[in-house]
Amino acid sequence: MQRQALAGERTWQLVTSLVTEVGPRFAGTPGDAQSIAWAERALREAGFDRVWTEPVTVPRWIRGTATAEILAPHARRLEVVALGGSGSTPPGGIEAEVVEVFDVEALEALPEGALAGRIAFLSRPMEQRADWTGYGEAVPIRSRGPAVAARKGALATLIRSVAIGPDRFPHTGATRWEEGTSPAPTAALAVPDAELLHRQLAAGAPVRMRLVIENEHAGEAVSANVIGEFRGRERPGEVVLLVAHRDSWDIAPGAQDNGTGVATMIEAARLAATASRQGPRRTLRVLLTANEEFGLSGARAYAAAHAAETGSIVLATESDQGGGRAHGLLVNFAAEDAAASGELAALLAPLGVALRSGEAGGGADLSPLAPLGVPLVDLDLERARYFEVHHTINDTLERVVPADLRQATAAWATVAWWGAQRAERLRSRPPQPQ
Ligand SMILES: [Zn+2]
Repeated sequence: MQRQALAGERTWQLVTSLVTEVGPRFAGTPGDAQSIAWAERALREAGFDRVWTEPVTVPRWIRGTATAEILAPHARRLEVVALGGSGSTPPGGIEAEVVEVFDVEALEALPEGALAGRIAFLSRPMEQRADWTGYGEAVPIRSRGPAVAARKGALATLIRSVAIGPDRFPHTGATRWEEGTSPAPTAALAVPDAELLHRQLAAGAPVRMRLVIENEHAGEAVSANVIGEFRGRERPGEVVLLVAHRDSWDIAPGAQDNGTGVATMIEAARLAATASRQGPRRTLRVLLTANEEFGLSGARAYAAAHAAETGSIVLATESDQGGGRAHGLLVNFAAEDAAASGELAALLAPLGVALRSGEAGGGADLSPLAPLGVPLVDLDLERARYFEVHHTINDTLERVVPADLRQATAAWATVAWWGAQRAERLRSRPPQPQ
């Protein structure tokens, strides 16, 4: 099966088809609807026994324009993109002085009203590291920063893109507002533009800027989770769950985020299901969720709709890290199954995947299921260049490396096959209080 995956083209063909025939598929858009039909077709063509959709209500946010221009010390247009959930400037835009604040902690430390009448600029850079911590430490300037800046009186917030690399395009992403507040205008600057602004402010002269940001909060829309399964021949009620989000950002073709994840999970399940002539012992289920990017709507809807069967999930795993090679394995098994990690690690070793210390957490879409005690497997992917294109217009097929995709497919097919074929099921862990 691993050899077949390493020689196979199907994952590449699937991601190519998705970005070519559908492209951007942000929650509630026509692209979202097209990607539902695409996913149903892809699962049927891959031979899944059963394919169905489950409706998901998603928030509808429509991007308008976003422009940012430095007026003083000298006129210069900057590259910006509104964050998902951003509000709008008043008609005609705003002109105001810019105040640099490093991060959310520094924002929280400011007295109330400290930013009144100003534009806040959150400048914390993201560090490139081998794991997720660089992203995790920087991302609060996007997810929470604009809300805190608004509470301190800011008219609008600009953030440095949560990204790496010198490219001059901005990276979008979701921002959250505090209960009972109305969304403020907020946008991300391309990294070099954030650096420029930082240098100008560090030089001490006041920087004035003109911002025009217009978006629409348009209520709700109906999307869907798309689900396919290969039914287990001996224990159909025991399920190996492979998850990937189907949506992308509105500006992004979503090749790596998350076309590669969608394609990998479909092909990994197909390989695992067809590895033996009799079919899998347990059920292999692929869940392609609606709206991960703008609020985890699909993951929450799935957890609610399937709450009664959480105990039937014998293994859950998610792909949402781009199209890099798998190099690390993390698990979060019940204490009685601690030795099982060694079994899985031995199967993955030929692919260059090694067991890591620490516990699997699942991805964002597994966050509603993880506290319920579902056994989790994380594959850690190489992502040195992922955050150069994440949530941008440049998340295109050209940045996906076919050989890496084949290797990751082989690794996930191995995980799926092992979970489905193992003599004993993996046991659930005690649920964590939420
Ligand atoms: Zn993603």
